[in-house]
Amino acid sequence: MSQTARTVTNWARNITYEAKEFHRPGTQDALRSLVAGSARVRVLGSGHSFNRIAEPGRDGVLVSLAGLPPVVDVDTVARTVRVSGGVRYAELARTVHAHGLALPNMASLPHISVAGSVATGTHGSGVGNGPLATAVREVELVTADGSTAVVARGDARFDGAVTSLGALGVVTALTLELEPAYEVEQYVFTELPLAGLDYEAVAGAAYSVSLFTDWREPGFRQVWVKRRTDQAPVDFPWAAAATGAMHPVPGMPAVNCTAQFGEPGPWHERLPHFRAEFTPSSGAELQSEYLLPRPAALDALHALDAVRATVAGVLQTCEVRTVAADPQWLSPAHGRDSVALHFTWIEDTPAVLPVVRRVEEALEPFDARPHWGKVFTVPPAELRRRYPRLAAFRDLARSLDPTGKFSNAFVREVLGD
Ligand SMILES: Cc1cc2nc3c(=O)[nH]c(=O)nc-3n(C[C@H](O)[C@H](O)[C@H](O)COP(=O)(O)OP(=O)(O)OC[C@H]3O[C@@H](n4cnc5c(N)ncnc54)[C@H](O)[C@@H]3O)c2cc1C
Repeated sequence: MSQTARTVTNWARNITYEAKEFHRPGTQDALRSLVAGSARVRVLGSGHSFNRIAEPGRDGVLVSLAGLPPVVDVDTVARTVRVSGGVRYAELARTVHAHGLALPNMASLPHISVAGSVATGTHGSGVGNGPLATAVREVELVTADGSTAVVARGDARFDGAVTSLGALGVVTALTLELEPAYEVEQYVFTELPLAGLDYEAVAGAAYSVSLFTDWREPGFRQVWVKRRTDQAPVDFPWAAAATGAMHPVPGMPAVNCTAQFGEPGPWHERLPHFRAEFTPSSGAELQSEYLLPRPAALDALHALDAVRATVAGVLQTCEVRTVAADPQWLSPAHGRDSVALHFTWIEDTPAVLPVVRRVEEALEPFDARPHWGKVFTVPPAELRRRYPRLAAFRDLARSLDPTGKFSNAFVREVLGD
């Protein structure tokens, strides 16, 4: 994220946020006064989304929580951590690990804020792993009048309150469930054909599996397999082991990536593909992603294969992951075990958008739900059909925020307001 006195952009720099003011309060009291005294407020996390989801608009204030004292409070007895709203996964994971504990999963990069990630349904991979929001058991919010609301698991509102698109209030803290620390070995395999692919077997071959392709040829250039050392050894008969360290984006240096060749290491240094101290992915890109029912994975991959010449022209890499079903109303994996089809595009919006539409057409039969933090063109009416709990979420947003202080053009369009 870069900023000057007048402009704030997202990490990818394809969005310059429209806002009346940008604030970075240094205390909770300053944050509360700012919220209570403003007509419209949106929070910016680490800015890793690729669309205008965080934008307040010209009458609103954009708030960063990065100036608040970071809190990462581990309770080793309860096996939970309370983490403040501006903290990123890298910092959270290091502290949790130092206490002998672990998160169940991570996204491809640890650079992203926890609150911003769970707000958009961010996920890693694994047939048994839900999105990152599944670890959350309590949300603390500063609501429209500057007061605090706590929504915990068991509260009827909870399944609307974590993956919230930032529309319920300022998330000042989250409490996450932890488990004992574990180690992971990462292996990369190359050249997995699409013909004859047993996707269920491949996706279930280890704790977390990702397939990568540039769609220049049918099939997958790389398969990243992450095995917990407390689970069965990897048996991967479908492709050959890589002979050198790899980066999922062709031409990018492998030194940016987490250790491969089965070298065991702590969960937080293997589950992400990219190391915290390096630029993740290619750094010059746009992204899109769609989640659809996992049983449709093979048909959806063949549907993409049918348009691969179009896709390949603007693609850096495509990643295929699995995400376990999740109860959060706005989760892209809500209520269904999912396959996630991700696209890292070149950073050329006019060239990419027609291809995004083409991909959405190809995935039309599969009820594909777009990732909230990435580029998509699915019309709002169709979004409301594919996300069956959007109406329930709209009611929740209205009850917590009757004047729409935390809404914006993106959210209004999605909710049909
Ligand atoms: C290189 C790269 C790799 C990625 N890899 C993955 C991946 O592996 N899996 C995946 O699912 N996604 C991935 N993403 C997408 C990314 O995880 C999401 O866009 C996520 O939202 C990023 O979190 P953020 O804090 O940067 O969010 P932002 O873009 O800053 O904000 C997202 C939303 O959260 C809201 N928000 C943020 N903080 C708060 C708060 N404290 N209170 C209230 N609302 C808040 C914002 O208002 C906004 O609506 C990747 C993105 C990049 C750039």
